[in-house]
Amino acid sequence: MVINSLEEQIAVIDHAGTIIDVNLAWTNFGSENGLSPAYASVGSNYLKVVSASAAKGNSHASEVAQGILDVMSGKRTSFYFEYSCHSPDEKRWFLMRVTRLKDDARRMYVISHQNITQRKLVEEQADYLAMHDPLTGLANRRYFNQILAREMRRSIRNQSAISLIEVDIDYFKDYNDTLGHIAGDQCLVNVAKTLLQFSRRPCDLAARIGGDEFVLLLGDADFAKSKKVADAILKTINDLRLVFGESRQVTASAGMASMIPHQKQNDDFLFQEADKALYRAKLAGRNRVMYMQPVAD
Ligand code: GH3
Ligand code: MG
Repeated sequence: MVINSLEEQIAVIDHAGTIIDVNLAWTNFGSENGLSPAYASVGSNYLKVVSASAAKGNSHASEVAQGILDVMSGKRTSFYFEYSCHSPDEKRWFLMRVTRLKDDARRMYVISHQNITQRKLVEEQADYLAMHDPLTGLANRRYFNQILAREMRRSIRNQSAISLIEVDIDYFKDYNDTLGHIAGDQCLVNVAKTLLQFSRRPCDLAARIGGDEFVLLLGDADFAKSKKVADAILKTINDLRLVFGESRQVTASAGMASMIPHQKQNDDFLFQEADKALYRAKLAGRNRVMYMQPVAD
């Protein structure tokens, strides 16, 4: 009764992998999810089913089969495996545990599957919050650094061009001082939306990396293509016509760097070059883009 009252799905298998006993939750899960009786019921060989799935190329199944074999051989005392098993209408995750049955006389093993969806959803949300800017919803600096590293590696591998556009709003302090912080926030949201418009491919990433500082990473994009994008971003920000004071309007400056990185290229290099270009755009009078095309040495 206790075993049948648990939500955790539990089965006991023998040393050959044959299912000796299951609890109610195990049986119910099988029938609710359309699993074949060969997989789920007493008498069927669980290890064989998992191994067959592994042989068809299911990498999760091969990890699970190995885990079961390791517990059976005594190589490890227990095996834990977290996996997703999403149904058509809900996201679900499970934790599988394999451990030896505490019975000296017979060599048997307990397999359990526990629903850990609640915990996974909280983790997903925490990951999202850790990687995004709450005001604009764009990627934050931490997320940007991760994607920059990934795209640099890809670019080195493929010897393809990678570009970075760094955008900083001009005289944003004055905008805040004139219209207030809430209007300032709205202005940041509008600039963020503009960057997002130009982030069109999976290898592109728009991020807010500081107060009024944004970046657009363009994976697999050469100098000419990225130059067009940088120019278009500044034009679009101008076209927002965010006016303040007597007759002032929000503009932005940008620095763009584009290159084909070499093997030992530092991840930060592209960012440093774009930053230098942005600095020059500010010095040269703002509301303009400066371009860098560093050559990998
Ligand atoms: P510059 O043309 O040299 O860039 O001048 P600037 O006034 O824009 O100078 P800077 O980029 O150094 O100023 C950034 C300002 O952005 C300072 C700060 O008050 C404002 N800021 C930073 N984060 C936020 C925010 O989340 N909301 C609002 N409203 N303002 C912010
Ligand atoms: Mg600024």
